[in-house]
Amino acid sequence: MSTMKELYDQWLDELRLEDLNLSLSTSYVLEQVDPTAYHCGFGDFTDGATFACEDCGLDFQNTDHLTLEDAVICPGCAGLEVCPECGEEVSSGDWAEHRMCGRCAEKAEAEEAAAE
Ligand SMILES: [Zn+2]
Ligand SMILES: [Zn+2]
Repeated sequence: MSTMKELYDQWLDELRLEDLNLSLSTSYVLEQVDPTAYHCGFGDFTDGATFACEDCGLDFQNTDHLTLEDAVICPGCAGLEVCPECGEEVSSGDWAEHRMCGRCAEKAEAEEAAAE
């Protein structure tokens, strides 16, 4: 199981500047040299991003609650009954049946029906 920190670090490391002949990764340098920028950047990293839950495999987008220490799992697997589509809290009945709120489940079903 990865943490959000590991994903974030990977993302930062892809930004590595080729001109800097550093053997250290971008994430390490940023975290050590400018922890504030490192923590602020995490907000940019998660803002509007989609992550694949490492537990159930579903994509999730409602990332406002995430911290660096969180595992990369959807709100449902984290035990928060929050709709992965709209971020609203879900009644346990809707959650058990659809793993999203009733409103989004209806929308998803209508889209599925339209696609057929
Ligand atoms: Zn999940
Ligand atoms: Zn919803």
